[in-house]
Amino acid sequence: MSVNDRRNEEWDKNGPASDKESQAYDGPPGMDPDGVIDSNWDEVVDNFDDMNLKEELLRGIYAYGFEKPSAIQQRAIIPCVKGHDVIAQAQSGTGKTATFSISILQQIDTSLRECQALILAPTRELAQQIQKVVIALGDFMSAQCHACIGGTNVREDMRKLETGVHVVVGTPGRVYDMINRRSLRANFIKMFVLDEADEMLSRGFKDQIHDVFRMLNSDVQVILLSATMPADVLDVTKSFMRNPVRILVKKEELTLEGIKQFFVYVEREDWKLETLCDLYDTLSITQAVIFCNTRRKVDWLTENMHKRDFTVSAMHGDMEQRERDVIMRQFRTGSSRVLITTDLLARGIDVQQVSLVINYDLPSNRENYIHRIGRGGRFGRKGVAINFVTEEDKRTLKDIEQFYNTKIDEMPMNVADLI
Ligand code: ADP
Repeated sequence: MSVNDRRNEEWDKNGPASDKESQAYDGPPGMDPDGVIDSNWDEVVDNFDDMNLKEELLRGIYAYGFEKPSAIQQRAIIPCVKGHDVIAQAQSGTGKTATFSISILQQIDTSLRECQALILAPTRELAQQIQKVVIALGDFMSAQCHACIGGTNVREDMRKLETGVHVVVGTPGRVYDMINRRSLRANFIKMFVLDEADEMLSRGFKDQIHDVFRMLNSDVQVILLSATMPADVLDVTKSFMRNPVRILVKKEELTLEGIKQFFVYVEREDWKLETLCDLYDTLSITQAVIFCNTRRKVDWLTENMHKRDFTVSAMHGDMEQRERDVIMRQFRTGSSRVLITTDLLARGIDVQQVSLVINYDLPSNRENYIHRIGRGGRFGRKGVAINFVTEEDKRTLKDIEQFYNTKIDEMPMNVADLI
């Protein structure tokens, strides 16, 4: 029996703890400190002031605009700061990045010009985003954080690392390369963070992560975070984590109440394009992300939208890093409003203005459904997710509904009013 099966059995017997505790709470689910189902750590600190953080770090947190810690921050920062191995699961957009960034900043010694914390993320864009958060929160501490990602100049990376930075955040390949070349010295690294941990420990990345892990001190603190933590991943963690503090939420709680989910029955693939064009006015109300399953489809759709004079931008993994950077910057600043992409951007990317996500194609795995729709409705904001469903997709949609115990209704005519 897997860990998750056991846990499910527990829920069936006792019901989720949150059912009983959270009745008084009516805000967005991820912000409810009681909305956690399986945790072996009870302490909840609902104020940044009471976390015993360094004065300059606290200033950085407030200057960044945070007033109160979110549910995951209230629970996970303390065990991370105390040096425990931690597995932290929380819904999309509820502040996992700041959870580990604050924990790292609290633990590093800025008078030592050595890398003391290493963060790995699955995409370059996410690594760059995390770097910005670490730098902003650590602004008053003069903490140095370098993003070590593929597609950039290797020599420059080496030079930057050799001067000594406190925190490195990167993608696995480049980070491994830098450790191998001895530009990134591993001796002082005491914290190892895997963001989007289930993705990082999945087939595509597992060996690379293992290679990096082997180069680190054996007593390195390991912190894993993701919105999704499938049972097989939790099993894998047993082999390299020591008595981890676990803060896990039930999969049924992963779909945020703030995000309304709909489907549009398009019957056939050929009719999706028309449907999207009909929706364009709705798309551009704020900002929207459209997900396709392949890079070719992204290119095809972009070209066809352009032919019809709709303004859209596109991004996928076949593009040069420079181009990816430009597209990302335009989308973050709001100068582009509709972005067509692949699962490259399904995880982690935080653009607060995004309130609409369209699955032009349904995702090929259940986890990515949650990650994709989580690009909208950040930090308790409102969001809408629209799934295009062909005849063949009907079963996949049912499967998603069942898995997350959620209801996906047919899109109403007034969908624009919900954004
Ligand atoms: P996650 O990694 O859980 O998907 P992020 O860490 O990207 O979520 O955070 C989502 C958004 O919420 C970000 O824009 C972040 O700045 C904001 N945020 C995080 N923590 C707080 C907080 N305590 N108060 C206000 N906003 C916050």
